[in-house]
Amino acid sequence: RKYRHEMKLRKKYHNELVELKGNIRVLCRVRPVIQEDGEGQSARQVVTFDQEDDGIVNCLHKGRWQTFELDRVFTQESTQEEVFEEVRSLVVSCLDGYNICIFAYGQTGSGKTYTMEGPPSNRGINQRALAELFRIVEEGSKDWSYAITVNVIEIYNEMVRDLLGNDPTEKLDIKLHNEGGLHVPGLTYTQVVTLADVNEVFQVAINNRATACTNMNEHSSRSHALLIVTVEGTNITTGAKIIGKLNLVDLAGSERVHKSQAAGDRLKEAQNINRSLSALGDVIHSLRSKQPHVPYRNSKLTYLLQESLGGDSKTLMVVQVAPVEKNVAETLASLNFAQRVRTVELGQATQKT
Ligand code: ADP
Repeated sequence: RKYRHEMKLRKKYHNELVELKGNIRVLCRVRPVIQEDGEGQSARQVVTFDQEDDGIVNCLHKGRWQTFELDRVFTQESTQEEVFEEVRSLVVSCLDGYNICIFAYGQTGSGKTYTMEGPPSNRGINQRALAELFRIVEEGSKDWSYAITVNVIEIYNEMVRDLLGNDPTEKLDIKLHNEGGLHVPGLTYTQVVTLADVNEVFQVAINNRATACTNMNEHSSRSHALLIVTVEGTNITTGAKIIGKLNLVDLAGSERVHKSQAAGDRLKEAQNINRSLSALGDVIHSLRSKQPHVPYRNSKLTYLLQESLGGDSKTLMVVQVAPVEKNVAETLASLNFAQRVRTVELGQATQKT
């Protein structure tokens, strides 16, 4: 009760202080129970929703319910279409020249890839976003022509790799332009005009990703996969240009690995994942609470996305969770992460009034 009251108070502060919220929204998606969850006590569902408030999710741990308030919670019945509805307006913003970041965060097996890529029969955000871009561009305006290019990048162990390049094992650097912007020398940009082009590009990336590793499943859960779509609009009469970027990121699994369970390479991987995910959390938190210093340089991921995270950009974080007892510790860790990146300290909010 007391907790709910405090949450209500927070909501009030949030609403009063719209400018503090920034262009960052944090959503949660709970995946359905799947066969791999098994049976019995450990497969018992521990996540529930609120009939009246679609921003609330509850989680049962050690006999105690904990409540989390986010911008929107998707239940197990939510469809790919419904999730995409939250994204559609961001795609339009991208055509208007905004930089957009969409992240899927969560432990391995929580549904990140389902939400971003989706199965062939029921595609996720990536394909739907590109289809929507093509649709808008095709409907077109008489005044603007658009060129759409994509990069596919992987960040593994703090190394940036180009999955559309000739040598996917080559490590790329992030450089600073003279004008202050960032660029990645040698990165492959592929122009796409139709969804068939996009599928071809994805296939190249998948093949490249597989040649650079031995166990694809393990590898993909330990690396961040980035699909970066650049939309360049040119005004036909004036020649003026508008450039927008849509960064679609399937993050590495957020599960915590204990020192006792890992050694050598595995431990180093785990430390790098922890580092980059907490750097992302810190950056989003600093932006959301309008702190003067934003620690972009603490990881390759946040450094690479610097220009799409700050300033006039829009960010959507989809925190994925599994619904069952055996994953409850990771579910709580993910929901706490979601809550943290979303929360502006009350102290700071009061100062501003
Ligand atoms: P992650 O990318 O986080 O490791 P996956 O996306 O591979 O997780 O999801 C794990 C399993 O759960 C897969 O078999 C996937 O098909 C299934 N799954 C995840 N989310 C959903 C959903 N919303 N509806 C149906 N199946 C889902």
